[in-house]
Amino acid sequence: MHTTPTKTLAQAVVGLAVALAALAAYATALYLILIAIASVASAGMPPSRYDRPYDGYLIPFRVELGQAARTCNALARQLGQPATHPRMIEGRHLYGCAYPAEGLCYVVYSYDPSGKDKRMESNVWRHEIAHCNGWPAHHPGQR
Ligand SMILES: [Zn+2]
Repeated sequence: MHTTPTKTLAQAVVGLAVALAALAAYATALYLILIAIASVASAGMPPSRYDRPYDGYLIPFRVELGQAARTCNALARQLGQPATHPRMIEGRHLYGCAYPAEGLCYVVYSYDPSGKDKRMESNVWRHEIAHCNGWPAHHPGQR
């Protein structure tokens, strides 16, 4: 098979998907992945020691409120982890999840497409980044 100088968009997308799958497999092989479920309403904000920018490679997935569980479960399957994220927690949508690995972190975070809840996105982001920074999944020291 020879290579052609121009790729179709479809070929490029397939190539990207293969690269992402390889990266996911690599991350999984490197480290046990911590499953971190965000529920900002009940889990709150992280302690200050985890509430800082993440100093690694971030792979973010920004999704509409209501889509986080589907995305988190798809990501879990891709990483070879149990796909057990519930769509709702205590009557509220799952807001996001984080899968920290060595030197990289996958983050799914929600935004409110209606624009009513302007703080949601930044709060979920802070919460999940704290998991990337090592905040345990059972949320010790939440505030
Ligand atoms: Zn959490």
